[in-house]
Amino acid sequence: MAKRDYYEVLGVNRDASEEDIKKAYRKLAMKWHPDRNPDNPKAEEHFKEAKEAYEVLFDPKKRPAYDQYGHAGVDPSAAGGAGFGHGQAGFGDVFNDVFGEIFGGARGGRSNVFRGADLRYNLEITLEQAAHGFETKIRIPTLADCATCHGSGAKPGTQPQTCATCRGAGQVRVSQGPFSIAQTCPRCHGSGKTVAHPCAACSGAGRIKNQKTLSVKIPVGVDEGDRVRLSGEGESGVNGGPPGDLYVQVHLKAHTVFQRDHDDLHCEMPVSFTVAALGGEIEIPTLDGSARIKVPNETQSGKTFRLRGKGIKGVRSHSPGDLFCHVVVETPVNLTARQRDLLQEFEAISQKDAARHNPRAKGWFDKVKEFFEG
Ligand SMILES: [Zn+2]
Ligand SMILES: [Zn+2]
Repeated sequence: MAKRDYYEVLGVNRDASEEDIKKAYRKLAMKWHPDRNPDNPKAEEHFKEAKEAYEVLFDPKKRPAYDQYGHAGVDPSAAGGAGFGHGQAGFGDVFNDVFGEIFGGARGGRSNVFRGADLRYNLEITLEQAAHGFETKIRIPTLADCATCHGSGAKPGTQPQTCATCRGAGQVRVSQGPFSIAQTCPRCHGSGKTVAHPCAACSGAGRIKNQKTLSVKIPVGVDEGDRVRLSGEGESGVNGGPPGDLYVQVHLKAHTVFQRDHDDLHCEMPVSFTVAALGGEIEIPTLDGSARIKVPNETQSGKTFRLRGKGIKGVRSHSPGDLFCHVVVETPVNLTARQRDLLQEFEAISQKDAARHNPRAKGWFDKVKEFFEG
């Protein structure tokens, strides 16, 4: 029986990228895996067909040969290994190749070299620091190679032994549903070695807790939750692996005057009721000095004044945001007898034409009346 074209099997174009091929295979493998289709004899056929196509098209050497010579160029019997048409042999390996990275395993099994863990440092800064940018020093805990055993974890004069559980591979295979996946060896935690006589300084871990001081440059405009990456400043790697990164995560302290909304700032602007009525000028703070706002006469509570460009220039913005000042007309308190007299006189005069002087109250009372009578 003629074999189907491998590209057709995977449903991809002839110029498909490695990524596309992997994706297509992953989809088919999920669909047709025999463990998921116990009562469908066709499933295993489909699965094997897809696996064979994937193994050829994903292989940078076999794919050009297949493109040029077709199936003859990649005769499976010459491919070696317990490959095609031999029942379930080899499922685990392919699944590890393709699915390993989804499960976060797949460090290869061949090597016990691990990248160090990434670290996060929470840095609280003020709004002013965020607006202008600044530089600071932080002290962070870190794991460094133990100086006594030089990272081996073994007592000086002794040697670590190959782990008996994983035979030095650092990984063990476990079944999870239809998948056979590689997991870090529980005994040696991936190092592939165990220590009979642990180093006293690090208790056999090979690494010790340390502190280091780092300079951090916080760029202009950072916002809550932004992260600054310090490459290579995370934990040191295992068995000579590269170190992880350090992420400095910014948290903004609450400001006494301003609330930040992305690049904009908001603040409350208390205005005395006489200035609100007669008009006047008010000095307000901004992040770079003070500014004056002209309050027109008959200004009501809730009115907003917008100062363009007096907000913050965000990290990814081209120009600074605006400052919004929200007027709150303040009722005077702690009145003297004289103030009280004047206000009573003011009220008496205002009563004669209350609707004209208090249009909002008038409108409101009208609506209330309508509501009860309607
Ligand atoms: Zn040590
Ligand atoms: Zn082990």
